[in-house]
Amino acid sequence: MTPDPGHVTPGLVCAHHHLYSSLARGMPPPPRTPRSFPEILELVWWRLDAALDLEMIRWSAMLGALEALESGTTAIVDHHESPNAIEGSLDVIASACAEVGVRVVCAYGVTDRHGPEGARRGLEENRRFVAAGGRGLVGVHAAFTCSDETLEAAAGLAQDRGVGVHMHVCEDLIDADAPRRLKGIAGDAWLLAHGVHLDDELPGVIAHNPRSNANNAVGYARPARFANPVALGTDGIGGDMLEEFRLAHALHRSADVTANPEAAWGWLENGRRLVPEAAEDRVTWSYAPMDPWRLAYTTDVRPLEVVVGGRTVLVDGAPTLVDPVEIRARAAEQAVRLFRRLEES
Ligand SMILES: [Zn+2]
Repeated sequence: MTPDPGHVTPGLVCAHHHLYSSLARGMPPPPRTPRSFPEILELVWWRLDAALDLEMIRWSAMLGALEALESGTTAIVDHHESPNAIEGSLDVIASACAEVGVRVVCAYGVTDRHGPEGARRGLEENRRFVAAGGRGLVGVHAAFTCSDETLEAAAGLAQDRGVGVHMHVCEDLIDADAPRRLKGIAGDAWLLAHGVHLDDELPGVIAHNPRSNANNAVGYARPARFANPVALGTDGIGGDMLEEFRLAHALHRSADVTANPEAAWGWLENGRRLVPEAAEDRVTWSYAPMDPWRLAYTTDVRPLEVVVGGRTVLVDGAPTLVDPVEIRARAAEQAVRLFRRLEES
């Protein structure tokens, strides 16, 4: 039966993801309750990323890509960090996404947290991946963990390769100085994640991550105020972009009772500025019409069929290229290894 065209949309795009965090749910609690955003990084994420090896990264990415596909997300703009498994990590992520059948734009988050040698190795991973033909941006963790030399080196590499920089900007007040330091080196091809405390003008697309911002208590980014294009990301909390759209609208509405869901829908569609190929992908949904006013208040809208680059990768809600039961089982095994390492750290 030919589906009603009202059931069909182009592929959805997650404009800011961390596929390495797919195994984090259920992880051992931190040694004490984090009281601020910097403590969340130190006690949770920087312990997790340091514990990752390539096998964990592979199954974390497979699980994240599978969950994205099962939500009608055909393209992921990923931001990766694994300071003890840098070399080859972007290939592992790109291969995992290709196996599942979703598009990915990779980046390694360069930082001086592990000294100049760590920054150099991160830059080299970006350079190597993009030079070999990988679809990527140059990743930077955030200005507040990088020297000016590292920021300039990343900007220079991006310019040399004709790509943008993908980095966290003003997620928390700890990074309030970022605009001053990035002015003059940032460009329109840059992807700025969060911008919660961004009060100055910087060129680039802003990735708004409403659930993550709420979860980290960093504040509401008020994305409607930006002159920049705004896209939507999950910041690693899954790949369900209709859910993120509903959250984006709910938070927009919480700050402005006149907010119209067309705004959050526009942010969702802006993801395709980052991955234009996703406009060719086709997702057939369980619901029609796929209209912002209805979807803002309708839960459990699921993809029935997904076609990426002309290839059917999901039929009757089930992936065609991979076995979801196996991916979940292998990811669970790697989560056990990861949690054991975290308990020892
Ligand atoms: Zn992030």
